[in-house]
Amino acid sequence: MNQTAMDRRSLPLTDLSDDERMFRDQVRQFAEEKVRPVVAQMDKEGQIPRSMIDACFELGIMGIEIPENHGGAGATFFMSVLVVEELARVDASLAVLVDVQNTLVNNALLRWGSQDLQARYFPKLASQWVGAYALSEAGSGSDAFALACRAQDKGDHYELTGRKLWITNAAEAEVFIVMATVDPAKGYKGITAFVVERSFPGFAVGKKEDKLGIRASSTCELILDGCRVPKHNVLGEVGRGYKIAIETLNEGRIGIGAQMAGVAQGAFEHSLRYSQERRQFGKHISDFQAIQFLLAEMATQIEASRLLTYNAARLRDTGASFIKESAMAKLFASRAAEFVASKAIEVYGGYGFTREYPVEKYFRDQKVGQIYEGTTHMQLLVIAKQLLGRL
Ligand SMILES: Cc1cc2nc3c(=O)[nH]c(=O)nc-3n(C[C@H](O)[C@H](O)[C@H](O)COP(=O)(O)OP(=O)(O)OC[C@H]3O[C@@H](n4cnc5c(N)ncnc54)[C@H](O)[C@@H]3O)c2cc1C
Repeated sequence: MNQTAMDRRSLPLTDLSDDERMFRDQVRQFAEEKVRPVVAQMDKEGQIPRSMIDACFELGIMGIEIPENHGGAGATFFMSVLVVEELARVDASLAVLVDVQNTLVNNALLRWGSQDLQARYFPKLASQWVGAYALSEAGSGSDAFALACRAQDKGDHYELTGRKLWITNAAEAEVFIVMATVDPAKGYKGITAFVVERSFPGFAVGKKEDKLGIRASSTCELILDGCRVPKHNVLGEVGRGYKIAIETLNEGRIGIGAQMAGVAQGAFEHSLRYSQERRQFGKHISDFQAIQFLLAEMATQIEASRLLTYNAARLRDTGASFIKESAMAKLFASRAAEFVASKAIEVYGGYGFTREYPVEKYFRDQKVGQIYEGTTHMQLLVIAKQLLGRL
């Protein structure tokens, strides 16, 4: 980096360093040339082709913060945010695949992984292995620490038994960060994070969800049936998984803010263009003040989403406190994306309501932004706790 985040503090949040701009432009070009032509097909088929995932590895966007000595780009968290935003502008599904890889999986290993875990997994995560993050279960979503998945100590290994639900990237992933409890009587203090490979005995990927949006992103159940995990695959300390979950999700939700800012930007650009092509009453519809005001509202919501998201990411990179700002970014950007994608359909009129035009997909894709990595209610709870000083 030729300019550190610290040096740039007095600059506008959206001012990018040369490295940031170059990286962003490369991803934008990739999204336009390689992703956009196949977005509708991926959505229809409900999957991201392996060739697309390989292209992401080649571009260096699957190991953004992984140190260079382990094959990664050795870049900042802010870079991940830029990448996720750019991808989501074109396809929210590919964006979340890359987001989970960087902001949850790589991030957790970077912060909590032993040297041994990093040396064994980073080179693969930077070059060929997709990762997934498994906290939620059928009975524990917002109340994530009520999880029931058990980890029993068997001497040199743990045996994991239970089921995980809603796991993004599960169909493609080779490695999973799985939260399980070593002792339910200890409550949240029993929760432990494990690095689990798809090939471990007793591990299986179950049913894939048939979803409203981000249809190309896989969301599956995990079945752990006495899954044998070596002791050296405990991530961090036994009983500290709750801390890993809270802290990675605090960071991860900045990525979702970026995804939502990107979705909103993508929907907006389509409607801006369409408003200058579509004619009614002998004029372009962009000549009507009602449409102009709508476009102005949409652009303002997007700008605010981006500023909140960039600020949270830059705070995180400088080591400052960012918990409230991260929750605010996700809360605001997900609501803004709902507003913008909905209004984008209105700008298109009846055409926007059909699958022949691109905006209905943005509308379907945005909704998950208010659900995963903590629902809107949970973001409000985090913000309120921070305001009231109760942590
Ligand atoms: C597409 C998709 C991908 C996902 N990917 C992952 C993944 O990769 N890994 C993973 O671990 N999880 C993943 N999830 C799970 C996601 O994090 C959960 O769905 C989410 O945390 C909400 O949990 P829930 O669905 O059980 O809803 P619930 O917790 O049952 O919530 C239902 C409603 O009740 C509200 N509510 C609950 N408690 C309170 C409260 N105390 N105060 C006020 N309101 C409350 C909620 O806000 C919500 O409106 C994914 C989910 C989806 C849909």
